[in-house]
Amino acid sequence: MPERGPTIFAAGLVLPVSAPDIRDGAVLVREGRIAAVGTLEELGQGNPDAQLRYFPHGTIVPGAVNAHAHLGFRRGDAPEGGSFSTWLAGLIERLPEKESWTAEAARASAREAIEAGTTFMAESSPYGECLPQLVESGLAGTVYAEFFPHEIGTPEEAVEFIVNKVRELREGLPERVDAQVSVHSPYTVDPESSRLAARRTRELGWRLAIHLSESPEELEFVRQGTGGLADIFGRNEWGGVGVSPVRYAESIELLAPSTIAAHLATGVSEEDLEILARTGVAAAHCPRSNEFLGCGVSPVPRMLERGVRVGMGTDGLWSSPSMNLFEETLVAVRLHGFEGATGLELATLGGARALGIKAETGSLEAGKWADLAVVDVDPGDEDPAREVIEAAAGGAVLSTVVGGVAVYDSATETAG
Ligand SMILES: [Zn+2]
Repeated sequence: MPERGPTIFAAGLVLPVSAPDIRDGAVLVREGRIAAVGTLEELGQGNPDAQLRYFPHGTIVPGAVNAHAHLGFRRGDAPEGGSFSTWLAGLIERLPEKESWTAEAARASAREAIEAGTTFMAESSPYGECLPQLVESGLAGTVYAEFFPHEIGTPEEAVEFIVNKVRELREGLPERVDAQVSVHSPYTVDPESSRLAARRTRELGWRLAIHLSESPEELEFVRQGTGGLADIFGRNEWGGVGVSPVRYAESIELLAPSTIAAHLATGVSEEDLEILARTGVAAAHCPRSNEFLGCGVSPVPRMLERGVRVGMGTDGLWSSPSMNLFEETLVAVRLHGFEGATGLELATLGGARALGIKAETGSLEAGKWADLAVVDVDPGDEDPAREVIEAAAGGAVLSTVVGGVAVYDSATETAG
């Protein structure tokens, strides 16, 4: 890569998230990292050699961190929503057909995320199949490789297989992309494989992603071993344990600070919240997917009160209308009555905390990677973060910068 000189990104407003808003603010970038954040005046004077990218009527925010997504789905032909198990049955039925277009869908999903100001993508796919498209996209991110033990062998063989697979996926990756393991869900991965995967990945110092307490059908499966999910998989030998999915996940050792649990939408009780807080597991909130699949509303305000780390996730295009994390966040802001600043934090630093990467990204701070989005909005003083979320949700991202490199520029695109 050629040596790049310093660049100053400046705008009418800079929202660093971890520090107060800055009018006529600027971010100085050197070698992909943030060297300083301040006013344009101070950074401009001190760095006359820097190239200036100035958006006087725009706002600079940290890039969105998508804490839970699936890249390999496409818009327009999702299975019917309304019920999680009906939707999942439709999805499984179409897996053979889907193979022919998964790569194309992953490319398009990643591109859509980038054009909506996303800079980090936590993606889950079977055996990490969407890793090539994530790498190609220019995003920073993690592929969580899902494994399905019934396709592999004994729990020991299944876990050995996925650990080796992830090692293989990691070979030759760019600096800011990595691969980890996902234990897909309580109804697809048996307890012994789940427990072994959790232990093994923790021994290795790896991270883990899971889906948890997503749907009414999952609750019924775990508690009683019956219902739509038991019907689909025709194997309910480990369901019916008589406890909540959260308590079950704790009992098979899945919950830890290095784990991120997606959804937590249905039936999360006060007792479950206590378990989440005590184990230190993080959460990914996907309100649009939850609504589409009839899964209820995740008690995110209660999680935040208890100190649970929460990020936002779009999920994939078969359960969600877009890969725009700011659009997802706007729904959460309305649903929970959050201030804009809380929403912006969930979309950026909250996701970085949840994924264990807060030292690297999620806010505009010296030392972190220069991951930022420029939004075409010049907000007033009342709730500027909310105005920025609304604008970005509506497609007003002008530029997306990952590690100091502009991976999207709307002006350039318009000019052809
Ligand atoms: Zn998901």
